[in-house]
Amino acid sequence: MDTRTQELKENLDTVSRRIDGAVAAAGRADRPELIVVTKYFPAADAVRLAQLGAVELGENKDQEAGPKAAEVAAQLGEGAPRWHFIGQLQSNKAKSVVRYAHAVHSVDRAKLVGALSRGALSALESGERAAHLECLIQADLRDPVPDDGRGGASPDAVPGLADAIAEADGLTLGGLMAVAPLDEDPRPAFERLAALAERLRADHPAAVAVSAGMSRDLEAAVACGATHLRVGRDVLGERPAPR
Ligand SMILES: *Cc1c(COP(=O)(O)O)cnc(C)c1O
Repeated sequence: MDTRTQELKENLDTVSRRIDGAVAAAGRADRPELIVVTKYFPAADAVRLAQLGAVELGENKDQEAGPKAAEVAAQLGEGAPRWHFIGQLQSNKAKSVVRYAHAVHSVDRAKLVGALSRGALSALESGERAAHLECLIQADLRDPVPDDGRGGASPDAVPGLADAIAEADGLTLGGLMAVAPLDEDPRPAFERLAALAERLRADHPAAVAVSAGMSRDLEAAVACGATHLRVGRDVLGERPAPR
């Protein structure tokens, strides 16, 4: 094992123990899925992670994720990880993302639903995809929601978007995703998310995914019922400056 692989292994073990501790503290019978966010880190690290058993990986920019996913797939073939797209997505990038992403966690508007549906359908027809694209609605947990279009869909818009995804060909409604606002305690924010998720399940019982919790707040997310955690820096280290 090279030193970087050793380091990633130790970090994965530490994060895994944190998750176990949080699951036990919350008295949960289930264990959330860890998505390791590899943004800004090279394909070689994604390969190392997959070989260590971390096979759910996250990326937030198509121009970085597309080539990385292709490189990792070329090296690992059948053992390639599944990619979760977690960043703001422009509609014109949907066609690219559907070629490699298992799921998109950042669906925040109707226009993107249409673009993802068209892209997923054509990728299914061409054989570039084998399965529907799982879509999570990114909910803005800021209260009140500012009109800057940055943090996801406002909670009021979630039911309409959910119906649109559920009805769209090529897409499956997975659930909700959110990032805790930086300027408040994550716990009440994740409690608002849990309430939104409960309302969503009333209309769409299969949409059970709650993607929440990052390096800084995964314990709070586990306590509030997160089913997917997205952890970057506590596994990979400090990110290099954005390119
Ligand atoms: C980068 C990122 C993460 C991971 O954050 P860390 O602080 O590195 O754990 C999670 N979710 C989203 C949406 C991100 O962009």
